Amino acid sequence: MQYDHILIRFGEISTKGKNRKRFIDQLKKNIELKIKDFPKSIVEKTRDRIYIKLNGEPTDVMIERLKSIFGIHSFSLALKTSSEIEEIKKGALAAFQELDYKGKTFKVTARRVDKSFPLDTNELNYAVGSHILIHSEDLKVNVHQPDINIRVEVREEATYITCKDIFGVGGLPAGTSGKVMLMLSGGIDSPVAGYLSMKRGLDIEAVHFYSPPFTNERSKQKVIDLAQVLTKFGGLKKLHIVPFTKIQQTIQKQVPENYTLISTRRMMLRITDEIRNRGKGLAIVTGESLGQVASQTLESMYAINEVTSTPIIRPLISMDKPEIIEISKKIDTHDISIRPFEDCCTIFTPTTPKTRPKIEKVAYYESFVDFDSLIKEAVDGTEILTINGQTTASTIEIDELF
Ligand code: ATP
Ligand code: MG
Repeated sequence: MQYDHILIRFGEISTKGKNRKRFIDQLKKNIELKIKDFPKSIVEKTRDRIYIKLNGEPTDVMIERLKSIFGIHSFSLALKTSSEIEEIKKGALAAFQELDYKGKTFKVTARRVDKSFPLDTNELNYAVGSHILIHSEDLKVNVHQPDINIRVEVREEATYITCKDIFGVGGLPAGTSGKVMLMLSGGIDSPVAGYLSMKRGLDIEAVHFYSPPFTNERSKQKVIDLAQVLTKFGGLKKLHIVPFTKIQQTIQKQVPENYTLISTRRMMLRITDEIRNRGKGLAIVTGESLGQVASQTLESMYAINEVTSTPIIRPLISMDKPEIIEISKKIDTHDISIRPFEDCCTIFTPTTPKTRPKIEKVAYYESFVDFDSLIKEAVDGTEILTINGQTTASTIEIDELF
């Protein structure tokens, strides 16, 4: 017996009313893109399921890929039969006997989407269950906590039999919630913040600030590599690299040392907001976590946030560092984040930054410089890279160094 389909279930999308069709269409597109190197497979959708018709394509790699697509609650290898009771019984038995079932318990869970099917759910459970029981040795029924649950979905066009559910990542399909700008440093936190916002269906453009010659090509490459890993989850297509040296040097000259950090963050936010405005995004995402460092006290965030009324999304705000690290390991950004390259902020970090900055003071210090022009210059000089999920030649080179 060979499974001929993968049956995909969505969780939350099913409750999204009018948007439902848009969500399912987008999820279908995202799946097609992810498995486009299996040319014989065909993705089909119905009102509440997506099916991949395998046409002989292997499933191991496909299963791994499906596990990282947002919007998939669970999926199963499935056997498609006609909706004739004898065919269903035969198919269910064949699928069941593929499993290591001896000494185990089982049950059948039937679902009748086609209400014209002659047996009701209980009768179908019984018919399929007794057929399996008669033809298999050393097996018992347990309807409460079975080791194996055979699901039979009877639909108008066909019946699908599945034996094992594989959990997906959940969330909403990439590209269904709008566009945001992710402030992506080379650290551990911001890639995790990017991942979590993509999980809710957001499309992301990443914005990175770099300060040559204080930060070098390797720090830039590190951020490119992080962005490449994040594309695996769908909604990241562009990386904006902002030249930040001039602004940082101006701040060093103009602003008292204990306020440079706050002022730097304010400028970063203003630039990101301008890039967002030009790219028609609706919010900004950061990797801030309350109280983690001086710039992330509530007072600091208040003083930084003052430069814009654009919504700022902070997915990590209440997380402890170990929780963030755990996610970064799961999504494969951790090992890139810990490469020892300088970030523009680490270099200019003051020894005693203000943890309770005053907005009036920082605004006063900034008022002596025409930052509007410097911001425009930085935005105009921003390099925009298209992120395609492919490993670049230079990535390989850097990987080999470690
Ligand atoms: P991360 O691990 O994400 O670097 P962090 O704990 O080091 O965060 P900060 O350095 O205070 O914290 O940065 C707070 C947030 O500001 C980051 O999560 C990121 O969103 C943004 N940020 C910091 N540095 C940069 C940068 N060079 N380019 C783009 N965004 C940045
Ligand atoms: Mg950082």
